[in-house]
Amino acid sequence: MSNHLALVCGAGGFIGAHLVRRLKAEGRQVRGVDLKSPPFAASAADEFILGDLRDPDLVARVVAGSVEVYQLAADMGGAGFTFTGEHDAEIMHNSALINLNVVEACRRAGVERVFYSSSACVYPRHNQCDPEAPTTVEDSVYPADPDSDYGWEKLFSERLYFAYARNYGLQVRVARFHNVFGPEGSWNDGREKAPAALCRKVAAAPPGGSIEIWGDGEQTRSFLAIDECLEGVLRFMASDFAGPLNIGSTEMVSINQFARMIMEIADKPLTIEHIAGPLGVRGRNSDNRLIRARLGWAPSRPLREGLAATYTWIAGQVAAAEAAR
Ligand code: NAD
Repeated sequence: MSNHLALVCGAGGFIGAHLVRRLKAEGRQVRGVDLKSPPFAASAADEFILGDLRDPDLVARVVAGSVEVYQLAADMGGAGFTFTGEHDAEIMHNSALINLNVVEACRRAGVERVFYSSSACVYPRHNQCDPEAPTTVEDSVYPADPDSDYGWEKLFSERLYFAYARNYGLQVRVARFHNVFGPEGSWNDGREKAPAALCRKVAAAPPGGSIEIWGDGEQTRSFLAIDECLEGVLRFMASDFAGPLNIGSTEMVSINQFARMIMEIADKPLTIEHIAGPLGVRGRNSDNRLIRARLGWAPSRPLREGLAATYTWIAGQVAAAEAAR
C-alpha cells in the first residue's frame, strides 16, 4: 500500500498539513488539496493542488488515481466563528457541498477507503450540561440535538458517508475529533480555538497583567495533541471498524484550569477576567471505551506535554508579530 496515492482534502489546514507530513514520514505518496497553502510551512505533499472542493469537477480530478482519501476540509473555526450564529449558512452550505462532492467522486473513482473527520460537536447538548459528567459515548448521539449548525452538518455528513457504505459498499472510517491542538494552527485569524487563543493571550499579556476568558471559565473540555490525533487516524484507517469513533483525550479540565496550566508553562502568573462571549456546551470529554476496544489503543499523553510545544510555537508567533509592528 505504501506507494499508493493518498489524497488529503484540507491539506492547507491545521490537521491536514500535519497529516500530510505524517503520511510522508510513513513513506506514502501524497496529494494535497485546499483553497490555501499551509500558512506556516511549505506542504510536505508530493503534489499540492490549490482548488475549491465545492466544485465537483475539481473534486473528480483530484480524487482520480487516489487509493485512500482523507477528507478534512471544512468551513470551520473556534467558538468565535462557529457559535456566534453569524456563519451558520456558509458553514452548512460549504461543508455539506464538499462532502457531497467528495463521497460521490470516491464512489465513481473506486477509492478503496475514505476517512471523514467529524466532530464531538455532533453530541446532543442535553448530555453536556453537567461540566463534571458530560456523556459522549458514540451511540448517545441520538436523539440528535447538536448545539451548533456546524455540529448538524457534521452529523448529516456522517450519515452521508455511512449511506454510501451501505448502498455502494464504499469503505468509510468516520472519526469524531475532540478539540485537537498543536503548533501551526490558527492563532489570530478569528478561527482560532481555545488552546491557541489562550496561549496567545498569555504570551501577549504584560507580566503581572490579565487575560480575558469567555464565560465563567468553569466549562470543561478535553484537548488532544496533534501527534496523538494522527496516530489515532492512521490506526483507525488500518482497522476493520467503520465508526463512528471518538478520537480525543479523557483528561478533562475546566477552561480556568487550562489557562492556569498555560501560565505555569509560560512561568507567567496573570489575573483572569471573565467576560461575555460565545461558549458552546457546559462540559465535554472524550469517551474512549470504544476506541480502546476497537483499536487496542487510546490517546494517553498528559495534556501538559503537548501544550508546552504549542505554547512555545505561539509565543514565537506573538513575538515575531510584535517585532514586525
Ligand atoms: P482547518 O480550518 O485548519 O482546516 C480545514 C481546511 O479546509 C482549511 O485549510 C480550509 O482552507 C479548507 N477548506 C475549507 N473550504 C474548502 C473548500 N471549499 N475547498 C478546499 N478546501 C477548503 O481545520 P482543522 O482544525 O485542521 O480541522 C480539520 C477537520 O477536522 C475539519 O473537518 C474539522 O471540522 C475537523 N475537526 C477539527 C477539530 C479541531 O479541534 N481542530 C475538532 C473536531 C473536528
